[in-house]
Amino acid sequence: MLNPGYLIEDSFDVLVAGAGVTGICAALAAARQGARTVLLEPRPFIGGNAATGLCIHTYKTKDGRQVVHGLAQEIVDRLIEQGGAVGHVPLPDGYVHSVTPVDADLFRMETTAMLAREGVTILYNTALIDADARDGRVDRVLVCSKSRLGYLKAKVFVDATGDADLATRAGAPVRTGWAGSGAMQPVSMMMRAVSVDNAKACAALAEKPPAWARKKGVAEPIPVYFHGTFTRWNAILRELGVYDHDDHQFWTNTVWPDQLNFNGSRMANIDGNDPLALSRATVELTAQLQKLGAFLRANVDGFQRASFLPNAFVGVRETRNVTGLYELNENDIRIGAKFHDTVGQGCFPVDIHHPDGKSQEHIDIGGDGAYDIPYRTLVPKGTENLLVAGRCISVSNYAHGATRNMAPCMTTGEAAGIAAALSARGGNACADLPMNKLQPALLAAGVFLGEAADERRAA
Ligand SMILES: Cc1cc2nc3c(=O)[nH]c(=O)nc-3n(C[C@H](O)[C@H](O)[C@H](O)COP(=O)(O)OP(=O)(O)OC[C@H]3O[C@@H](n4cnc5c(N)ncnc54)[C@H](O)[C@@H]3O)c2cc1C
Repeated sequence: MLNPGYLIEDSFDVLVAGAGVTGICAALAAARQGARTVLLEPRPFIGGNAATGLCIHTYKTKDGRQVVHGLAQEIVDRLIEQGGAVGHVPLPDGYVHSVTPVDADLFRMETTAMLAREGVTILYNTALIDADARDGRVDRVLVCSKSRLGYLKAKVFVDATGDADLATRAGAPVRTGWAGSGAMQPVSMMMRAVSVDNAKACAALAEKPPAWARKKGVAEPIPVYFHGTFTRWNAILRELGVYDHDDHQFWTNTVWPDQLNFNGSRMANIDGNDPLALSRATVELTAQLQKLGAFLRANVDGFQRASFLPNAFVGVRETRNVTGLYELNENDIRIGAKFHDTVGQGCFPVDIHHPDGKSQEHIDIGGDGAYDIPYRTLVPKGTENLLVAGRCISVSNYAHGATRNMAPCMTTGEAAGIAAALSARGGNACADLPMNKLQPALLAAGVFLGEAADERRAA
């Protein structure tokens, strides 16, 4: 019989579950505060959805004011040095001011090195499967590693699993999918196309002006982001059985002149918490992308010599969100709301792929184009030493359409990491962490809290 002992005997100050963009930033931030930090990741690599080849959306408001800094900016700066990013590139006539493509592999390699430098213990192939919690206090978590089950102990826990797995197991209140129906946004699998002539592909596919960037060592500017629909090719795509609908939308990004990351697949009615459903989606979306690759090679200029590599796993947009001390809502986004307990700002519009899998909705950020993210959205109701960050923070379904994107995930990850380290050191409940301790620590780390944050704090 299984009789799990401790996987590692020592107690950590901070345990972060999940090493997507959020968990990476949380672990880095906690370690930089001097906390002994452990980071759990079921896959044999870090990055989560960021490992699939995406732009980090987004750093600047629609009028071009940068409101996302801190670790989110530091990582891009480091990637620019490595040739893995080209900065924040203006998108003419776009739904955002600028886009920030990053190479997924260089992102993984650079952030792995950063975590190692900060002394974070990364446990790969290790999933959190349960939590021992009483009266809102998490004592230890049960993990399944490659070869055995085991417990890990920490003073403060950060749930960066995207799915709120830790918070759920600890008994925190959560909402699954859309309020009322439980429906979830469709899942998609990314695909990398290599040996592409990007300029030709862009001329053939882009329906709006692309984002062009110059890169050291590359003679010509590169179209690093463009999007469109396959309307021209509806008949062929139907005949090939790629999609069950017309006018499929796609988005591409890259930092290379001869590769493209393709977001052009979709499957509705998949519960991202259900391993059977996710496995079925993996099989079907891989097949969908193999067909899409064959279509592009045969029909679209620039892809004649290309090879197509569907990602190894399915990207999940929405599963669970915790109910925290505050739930950020649609109105907050529509007015660009400001809060006394801000831990950073978000500026990417609400982007909802409707659960029916057929339509998409955008809502611009109101006010000055940025909303504050209140600390209370990171604190699950009724818990003492637990924070959430990233995709699963406390937001309504509409607000989630904005906060699920990677820049806000990195911002909440960094904030949760710092808050967890301060709570572990001070021995106070996360909910009681004073803002006059947290906000100066965030500012010292380079996080932007908003121009008027000082006045709001003083009020
Ligand atoms: C197809 C698609 C396209 C997108 N496009 C963009 C885009 O262009 N720009 C953008 O900014 N955002 C985009 N997003 C959204 C964005 O990528 C994600 O919402 C964001 O990366 C989530 O980050 P996260 O770290 O919170 O979660 P994840 O990236 O999901 O990371 C969670 C991590 O936790 C791990 N984990 C899960 N369960 C457990 C457990 N039980 N124990 C331990 N670890 C666990 C996972 O393995 C994973 O590594 C897109 C999303 C999808 C699906």
